[in-house]
Amino acid sequence: MNYALTSVTTFVRRAIGLDDISLETLPVDAANRLRKLQMRGAIEQMRVFVIGNTFFAPVLAFQAWGAGVNGMVLGWTAVMLAFSWWLFWAWLSSYRTDGHASDMTRFVTETKINASIWCLGFVLFFPFADGDSKTVLTSVMVGSLALGTIGFAHAPIAAFWYLAIQATTLISVPTLYSIAKGTSQDLLLGVLAVVASAAIFNATLERAKEQMRAFKNHEALAHKTEVVDLLLKDYEEHGNEWIWRTDAKGKLVSCPSQILELLSFDDGAVEGADLIHTIGNSIESDHQSEVGKVQTAFDEMVDLHNVVLPLRSRSDGAVKWIVMKGRPQYEDAGYAGFRGIFADATATIEANRHVEFLAKHDPLTQVYNRNYVQAFLEDLDPARDHAIIFQIDLDGFKQVNDGYGHTVGDKLLQVMAERLKTAVDGASKVARLGGDEFLVICKLKADEMLIAQDQIGQRLLESMSKPFDIDHLEIGLSGSVGIAKFPQDTDQGSTLLSQVDLALYAAKRGGRNRCVAFVSNMMDGVQKRIIVTERLRKAVQAGSIESYYQPQHCAQSGRMIGAEALARWYDPELGFVAPDLFISIAEETGLIHELGEQLLRRACLDALKWAPQEDGTPLMLAVNLSPVEVMRSNVAQKIQRILDETEFPATRLEVEITEGVLIDDVPATKFLLEELSDAGITIALDDFGTGYSSLSYVRALPLNRLKIDRSFVFGIEEPEAQSIISTIVGLSERLNLEVVAEGVETQKGVEILGKLGCDVLQGYYFSRPLAAKDFEELTFGQKRLSGDKTA
Ligand code: C2E
Ligand code: CA
Ligand code: CA
Repeated sequence: MNYALTSVTTFVRRAIGLDDISLETLPVDAANRLRKLQMRGAIEQMRVFVIGNTFFAPVLAFQAWGAGVNGMVLGWTAVMLAFSWWLFWAWLSSYRTDGHASDMTRFVTETKINASIWCLGFVLFFPFADGDSKTVLTSVMVGSLALGTIGFAHAPIAAFWYLAIQATTLISVPTLYSIAKGTSQDLLLGVLAVVASAAIFNATLERAKEQMRAFKNHEALAHKTEVVDLLLKDYEEHGNEWIWRTDAKGKLVSCPSQILELLSFDDGAVEGADLIHTIGNSIESDHQSEVGKVQTAFDEMVDLHNVVLPLRSRSDGAVKWIVMKGRPQYEDAGYAGFRGIFADATATIEANRHVEFLAKHDPLTQVYNRNYVQAFLEDLDPARDHAIIFQIDLDGFKQVNDGYGHTVGDKLLQVMAERLKTAVDGASKVARLGGDEFLVICKLKADEMLIAQDQIGQRLLESMSKPFDIDHLEIGLSGSVGIAKFPQDTDQGSTLLSQVDLALYAAKRGGRNRCVAFVSNMMDGVQKRIIVTERLRKAVQAGSIESYYQPQHCAQSGRMIGAEALARWYDPELGFVAPDLFISIAEETGLIHELGEQLLRRACLDALKWAPQEDGTPLMLAVNLSPVEVMRSNVAQKIQRILDETEFPATRLEVEITEGVLIDDVPATKFLLEELSDAGITIALDDFGTGYSSLSYVRALPLNRLKIDRSFVFGIEEPEAQSIISTIVGLSERLNLEVVAEGVETQKGVEILGKLGCDVLQGYYFSRPLAAKDFEELTFGQKRLSGDKTA
């Protein structure tokens, strides 16, 4: 029975659509919010309701006036008015807004009481009213029903109870009365009541549904706003974009906390601070122009696009790159200030700056790189700029790298870069072109150029000559410096690099540890070198480079005891090319390996044809071995192979090496010379007395002969030259070495050198270098040639 009732109620509720407006379908807090809204709406209508009651109650009651129930009429009216006004007073005085369910229950109960009082009046007065009065009574009741229902419509539950109670009475009383009395007019009143009630019910239901829909929409929107607010807050806290606002006067209304610590406020007051003034206070001094951009946007009330502000953090002193955007805001009253965002672009900007840095700098030493130098030099303007550029090359850096490893080499380059920076002033630019080559660019005034060239050049040399202390290793090096001047040497900045390169090359060839300035004929030299290189390549391929032979004589007996092979190249276009030139080109291009092999093979074959000395001792063959050949590890095997091929005896071969070889790599050279020596080959140290001579090297190596450089021999009549030569001879005797003097041109020279103790003499006095055929003839003739068939 109970169950059946519940089912019917549920069915009716659904059918009518009451479920749609039930607060039970909402979450508790939402239901409370809606209830609060409903009560507030209903209570606001209470005034109309009370006034309506005050007017309708006497009208209803006095329909039964004079029917002998006046006491009842007065009593009911008094109760009605008293209750209505009490209700009004009670709700207005204890107006609660928290929408608690118990408030609604109380409100509904009071509504029910009020409706019941009306119904009581209707039930009491209807039997005493005449026909017209019944109509009035019914109409007043319908009016009251409408007034109450519509008045309480904000709180549908109250409205429906009011409607249900009143409608039931209003319909049932006339209907029952008409059935009891058989009057059709009363039935008509009942029907009227049904129609009116249904219409009002429908309107109220629709309104309640509308209320529910609106509430749910509002709730959903509120929820979304809440989510968005949370997201925004989270973004501001953890993201890197923050909102700022100013009022129409440019005063800060709100400023994100992340920015506060980057801004310097006058007297520390944040709110109401002038935004532009504050930014001006806070920004790094060389970016003040950015503040101008903000000012312009504010003045002209236009959008503010990506102004980049470097601001210094108060907490850690680091610069933050803040991008500022904004746009003017308008409200009803007109321009209302600016609103925009600050975005932290530090990471992006630093990354860009790093990329930019790398594009212009050498990552190892942090000084400029070749790209930067090229761009800088190309920008030089001969009408405006004067500059000296210094190209610096460390002598012997390769040995440091090979001997101690790249880590030490890298550290040395870093120290070197620092030293160069210290050697020049801050306005000069230091760059690393690659390897151990550095460049210094000094922009100067025209009249400073000459002095600066010497002074700076000297300082740069000094900076390299101090020993380098790397990882507790003391490394002594020196350097060479090439110099070129703008616009004296060229008015094209781009040409400067090749000019300074030539000057450096000249400095290195000139004996290192020196500065050499570019002179224009170096350029001619370059042109010539390029052509010679091409021709030389062809000549080596064709095997057309010949070997000439210059005799060597015993100083005591005067007899020819051997010859030195010297390369000769006749090119149909270039004519005779000096060996100094083409040998150095062959060394640079690597052609020397092929050429050296060709010359050695040919010399061995030629020498096999020579007639021996009178006593049958075969003539010695001396060949020159270039330092570049010596540095190749397989040179000993190469020589051995050629000796095997040509069947030339090792004991007849003498190899001349220069001192330069020795200092470049002592252990390797020593090893090679021992191999050669073990094979029976004689070893001579050529050009002794120039360059880096040190007898300590000489002592450590398996040498047989010293060849005194011809520059000493040319001045042999001078006492100084004689004393140097006698010193060398003295040392050689102690080291058990033979002394050869080359470049002997005179009879006098022969005499002096013989007296000083030289063992072997060589020079034009005896013979110029001779073509193979001529020398062969000479060996057979053993007669002295004066120089007609010479090269
Ligand atoms: P070097 O080894 O010192 O050769 C001696 C140079 O002195 C030769 O010059 C020779 O012609 C020159 N000379 C000899 N006697 C006199 C003299 O009385 N007066 C004057 N003024 N000069 C004299 P050359 O042939 O021009 O060679 C120059 C240099 O080229 C050589 O110096 C040597 O370093 C290099 N060279 C020549 N041929 C070869 C070669 O086949 N292989 C290698 N690796 N180097 C060579
Ligand atoms: Ca030589
Ligand atoms: Ca020599």
